[in-house]
Amino acid sequence: MGQTMRAAVMHRVGEPMRIETVARPTARATDVVVQVKACGMVPNLANVLANWSTWYPHHPLPRLPAVFGLDPAGIVCEVGEQVIGIAPGDRVYVSPARSCGACPACLGGERTRCNHYTFNGYFGFQKNSQTIYDLYPHGGFCEYMAAPQYAVVKIADTMSFNDATRLGYMGTAYSAMKKAGPLPGKSMLINGASGTLGISATLLGLATGVTRIFAVARNRSLLERVRALAPGRIEVFSSEDGSVADWVRSRTEGQGADFMLDTLGAVASLAAFDDAMHGVRRGGRIINIGGTAGHLPVDLKWLMDEQMQLIGSVWFNGAEGYELVELIRSGAVDLTILEHQVAGLDDINRAISGIASRNGGFSNYVIAP
Ligand SMILES: [Zn+2]
Repeated sequence: MGQTMRAAVMHRVGEPMRIETVARPTARATDVVVQVKACGMVPNLANVLANWSTWYPHHPLPRLPAVFGLDPAGIVCEVGEQVIGIAPGDRVYVSPARSCGACPACLGGERTRCNHYTFNGYFGFQKNSQTIYDLYPHGGFCEYMAAPQYAVVKIADTMSFNDATRLGYMGTAYSAMKKAGPLPGKSMLINGASGTLGISATLLGLATGVTRIFAVARNRSLLERVRALAPGRIEVFSSEDGSVADWVRSRTEGQGADFMLDTLGAVASLAAFDDAMHGVRRGGRIINIGGTAGHLPVDLKWLMDEQMQLIGSVWFNGAEGYELVELIRSGAVDLTILEHQVAGLDDINRAISGIASRNGGFSNYVIAP
């Protein structure tokens, strides 16, 4: 292991990343260093970053130049002197979730509520995030990255690194679904079922005892692929064919689904969210994990009278990461449906500029440094 490494460095949004030789991180105190074998990539990342300040002005990107890469997996190669539960050679997923570790939220196991909460290798949630980027400057688009030990989830021997890069999307869907309460016997409406989060939620619904899945998206051929995952439990509807709420109610004797996940992307309309959430039954839960931004008009009287709960959910915690690894290891969640689209570091600019595949969330985009 040399003192330097190759990294894809972004100097300016809108310009190609440059492959550079930079200093390799070392493991301090409670940190580990991971040799990155695969790193998940947000589909069409270059376009997302180009539109960032318009779509999400309150989410700061790291100060440039920076090394991006949200969902890395690899092998621990060095541990800090205070690390006792993780050893070199461990195969791991590295969650990008970073927080201060010392505030009441962090101490309560709710790192997502920390006011330093930051996605390493992607974006921050408030101005404090640059403090985190200064401590952890590398995402997964490089050969080695340092990470705090709390960010590491050990993966099963049988899990490929490519599959492990999907844990970010899987975990986001999983943590959101757990916020709906006990899942066995429940019905779930997924708004955006053919995308990366939607496919993840579908697989998890099948694994956790959700008995009816109402899968909504636009593309009919992708919806058919979703339905084929479990034709007896999954019903599909194209949002181009009318009101989602009307359709779900027509399938549930007028009641609606027990809960809904919204996974729509940044360019989706708030009207689509508004329509779908009225397909949730009285007393149900509406959980947002999508990218739709803006002010949603909500009838407060409806919210009260129907005892509805509108919930925002961001990412997942490390314990949920371990639960996912076990769900996948056992075969309860079957990731063999994923089609990995792998590019090397030298091909990264082509990879991040690629238009989203026609395979929707069945595709999994990976950079292999
Ligand atoms: Zn904190």
